[in-house]
Amino acid sequence: MSTYELIIRNGYVVLPEEVKKADVAIRDGMIAEIGNLIDDKGLEEYEASEHYVFPGMIDVHVHFSEPGRAHWEGFETGSQMMAAGGCTTYFDMPLNGIPSTIDQLALLEKAKIGEAKSVVDFGLWGGLVPGNIDELEGLAKSGVIGFKAFLSATGNDEFERADDLTLLHGMREIAKLDKILALHAESDSITRWLKQGKEEQGLYSADDYAATRPVLAEAEAVERAITYAELTGCRLHFVHISSALAIEKIERAKRRGLDVTVETCPHYLLFNQATLIEKGSVAKCAPPLRERDEQEKLIALLIEGRFDMISSDHSPSPYEMKDPAVHNLFEAWGGISGGQFSLLSMIELAITYDIPLPKLADWIAAAPAERFGLSSRKGQIKEGMDADLAVISLSQNYTVSRDNFYAKHKQSVYMGHTFPCQITATFNKGKLVYDKGEIRKQARGTWLK
Ligand code: ZN
Repeated sequence: MSTYELIIRNGYVVLPEEVKKADVAIRDGMIAEIGNLIDDKGLEEYEASEHYVFPGMIDVHVHFSEPGRAHWEGFETGSQMMAAGGCTTYFDMPLNGIPSTIDQLALLEKAKIGEAKSVVDFGLWGGLVPGNIDELEGLAKSGVIGFKAFLSATGNDEFERADDLTLLHGMREIAKLDKILALHAESDSITRWLKQGKEEQGLYSADDYAATRPVLAEAEAVERAITYAELTGCRLHFVHISSALAIEKIERAKRRGLDVTVETCPHYLLFNQATLIEKGSVAKCAPPLRERDEQEKLIALLIEGRFDMISSDHSPSPYEMKDPAVHNLFEAWGGISGGQFSLLSMIELAITYDIPLPKLADWIAAAPAERFGLSSRKGQIKEGMDADLAVISLSQNYTVSRDNFYAKHKQSVYMGHTFPCQITATFNKGKLVYDKGEIRKQARGTWLK
């Protein structure tokens, strides 16, 4: 008989190759044993019968805005919200804080805040912007997970989009540093030109907004970035890809041997342009929610395995910045507040389309861990890995309301949405951080360098 810190009992455990009813034993925050552990004892035991035990989500794409704009969202409530969504590691983007994360000093300042406040583990992206090429090495040495650049305007004055020369110089440097460049791929010229046309005519409807950011704007930017990656040898990760045409170009690059990965977000799979028309600014994002036929193509591509991973692109703001009484749809802050609902969304899709759960676990945990250098510790339920786990019911519904949404600002396209599943508990390195509607606010995560 062995004694463990914790045993999670009788769950359907989502392993890399199968789902198996088993107990999971945890020692020193790591998974020590998986199996029928009836003879063993846990100092604590968690009953997970009739529940599924997933690897905690690794969400490579969230926007908290601390320091500087913590009133939008910060590490405290932001990380609590992620924990409530079954996420045990998130990577924070470099653009929304003041200062933005474009040099070592800003990175270390942000990391300190994260370490003091985050209830789960986190990584930090550094930014590639015009004029900061000399900072990239310092950022890499201090532990950024990778770099992020925008091909179109960012919405934040402090974080400029990368022009073509910045991209080429930056990619060469990032290749040298053996890091990955994540790209928001939409053409600045196309989107700006189309927007100007709409503004001149005073057209601000949901359809008009969507028309300013067409699939072609995404495809053009993807194609150009791939060309530059080929010239420089830089590894790329395309964030929030929203069209079959962009996937076609990325697939072709992969077949040519380029080191490229791609994510999409649940909102492109669950919703479409009709949602933007119906719900307005809470459903505004860039690229925009697509037409229904594009949404269906994206789901088919997901099932075919064309997306490497899923991220939330959680991008919140205060309600005033989205208030339709003050701002038209073009002026409203773009970004969907959905970090808490990514795993639930993917399980909903898995149930609807009969997607095997180990495949889903790969998209939300194993693949991001592998891509960003965490796979020796995270991403799978396997002996020796960190005990980052989400206990989930696939038989209880969950309707999003103000009471069970933990973000700082309670507006989201997901408000009122009913999922056919529910996160029951979340463990970060074996420590319970979320349990049946309650957050363990004293929990602290680690900065993953
Ligand atoms: Zn984003």
